[in-house]
Amino acid sequence: MGDGRAPSRTLVRVQELHDAPLAPLTTFRLGGPAARLRTATTDDEVVAAVREADASGTPLLIVGGGSNLVIADEGFPGTALRIATRGFELTGTRLELAAGENWSDAVARTVDAGLAGVECLAGIPGSAGATPIQNVGAYGQEVSSTVTEVVAYDRHTGRTVTLPNAECGFAYRHSRFKADPSRYVVLRVRFQLEDAGGLSAPLKYAETARVLGVEPGDRVPAQTARETVLKLRAGKGMVLDPEDHDTWSAGSFFTNPVLDEAEFEAFTARVAERLGRDVAAPAFPAGEGRTKTSAAWLIDRAGFTKGYGTGPARISTKHTLALTNRGDATTADLLALAREVRDGVREAFGVTLVNEPVTVGCAL
Ligand SMILES: Cc1cc2nc3c(=O)[nH]c(=O)nc-3n(C[C@H](O)[C@H](O)[C@H](O)COP(=O)(O)OP(=O)(O)OC[C@H]3O[C@@H](n4cnc5c(N)ncnc54)[C@H](O)[C@@H]3O)c2cc1C
Repeated sequence: MGDGRAPSRTLVRVQELHDAPLAPLTTFRLGGPAARLRTATTDDEVVAAVREADASGTPLLIVGGGSNLVIADEGFPGTALRIATRGFELTGTRLELAAGENWSDAVARTVDAGLAGVECLAGIPGSAGATPIQNVGAYGQEVSSTVTEVVAYDRHTGRTVTLPNAECGFAYRHSRFKADPSRYVVLRVRFQLEDAGGLSAPLKYAETARVLGVEPGDRVPAQTARETVLKLRAGKGMVLDPEDHDTWSAGSFFTNPVLDEAEFEAFTARVAERLGRDVAAPAFPAGEGRTKTSAAWLIDRAGFTKGYGTGPARISTKHTLALTNRGDATTADLLALAREVRDGVREAFGVTLVNEPVTVGCAL
């Protein structure tokens, strides 16, 4: 599809179901049905379905891999559009992915091709098209470091646009796409990878370096970095496994709080008061005098330890940051747990946690 021009308006047929369950399309396996579920397998089908929904004023929900979605038990009263486009094009060190490509599979293919840049993002579930939405990141890498352009359908202008990295508004678990969710539908994502002779990008994450017996900043074979990350993730329930309820989640349920100077001072005082002067909360510089602390640490220290809960929604037994469906939870159960954790952390430390997954028809 050419940039800047309106995509063809020729008749495209998009697969459609009515009153279709959405829960099986999410990793939480929660939420009621969509009035209409459409599946688009080409960019033209995506654009046609979006245009049709917009022209009729029907609410629209874009669904990729459903790994960052919390859908209300009442379901979604409009059109849920599932993006199932395919396309993996590697030209030298430049990669273009269709939005519907499976992200983790695409990462594996780049590593097999001997390239570096996204190897530490292996195992993140979901689609390539969703990666720019919250600027996915893990183990010292974020897609904002390698994304060069995002090709998206702009619902405001009805045209396809190519947004260079600098115009994507990337920040920690945020982007212009997340800030304005009713505007852009991502069709393709372009990346610039690195040929480091089969080596990874310099490792930024202390845990990965430690496990590999190297120093942060060192490079290791990209395949080794990918496999190590997958192993670390699996140990935390962060690789999808249908048999393991610890992975019936959206990964981290809360983002790490970023505090300004005054907030951090007040927070440090609360930590000292509650846990003693010798206890220091995790603190990482986050630019402009701000400090990032760890949501997992706050949750744990507020008394919500691994496996917390007695109902059908509980904290993962492997990671305090993942809220999970033990099999027969409802979205209401999940949200009740999330509120309990958020409120408990606020009471203990004066910090309000913010949910990372996107809520649809419900809120914390
Ligand atoms: C076990 C587990 C581990 C995880 N680990 C991580 C991690 O380490 N790091 C991390 O950052 N995230 C992580 N996540 C969260 C999630 O996998 C990512 O946010 C992922 O990018 C979501 O992709 P998706 O295709 O499943 O998006 P969905 O859940 O389908 O959608 C998420 C949001 O993006 C929108 N969206 C999806 N596709 C498009 C598109 N093409 N155009 C416009 N909007 C779109 C949706 O409307 C929705 O608002 C984890 C999740 C799970 C379940």
